[in-house]
Amino acid sequence: MIYKAPDGFYRSTLLDRLEWLEHGFGTRAQGDWLIGAPVAKVRQTHSAVVWRVDSQLGFLGDGDALYSSTPRTWLAVRTADCVPVMLAHSGHRVAAMLHAGWRGTVQEIVRATLTAMEDDFDSRPNEIVAAIGPSIGRCCFEVGPEVAGQFRRWFPVSGNGKALIDLREALRRQLEEAGIPKESISVSEQCTRCSGDDFYSYRRDKEAAGRMVSALRLR
Ligand SMILES: [Zn+2]
Repeated sequence: MIYKAPDGFYRSTLLDRLEWLEHGFGTRAQGDWLIGAPVAKVRQTHSAVVWRVDSQLGFLGDGDALYSSTPRTWLAVRTADCVPVMLAHSGHRVAAMLHAGWRGTVQEIVRATLTAMEDDFDSRPNEIVAAIGPSIGRCCFEVGPEVAGQFRRWFPVSGNGKALIDLREALRRQLEEAGIPKESISVSEQCTRCSGDDFYSYRRDKEAAGRMVSALRLR
């Protein structure tokens, strides 16, 4: 379950159980809450490029996912409708922070990150816990036929015209296909476009939209 904590962050009950991990899906209220903190981030390009974080800080380069086993460095992404995804392997104390819009989803950034975690740390997907954060819901994510057609791999898309796409469900299915047990995946039901008090939305606010910062770190 993803819930809103008293401090205003959205959190996953599955990730809360990991005492070695700290995490939060930010809202408008927190703004750039990591200013001054040790943070690793990427210039997000809607790719499937994944970065391993060891001792680096600041911008690592172009990409959309970060994973690390280094304590105290925050791994952060910024979103306004796109989907922030968190992954954690408890036994190995490895965690990942992803930014997935429709392009990253279609390019399977989730699989790329899980593969990198397995290659580097032998962290098997069946032992990984995942959290899919607040993002645009199917209610508000209407896309043209050229985009909709690319989601047929994950679920039926009706018609050949515009369609409503459930990005979070596509990501959830990818995580499950990759081997993460269904019960180890929690999915937010918050739609960023519908809930203007808490969230920025690129679809709603266009160029004026700010960005929410979501991040995790090993303690
Ligand atoms: Zn909505």
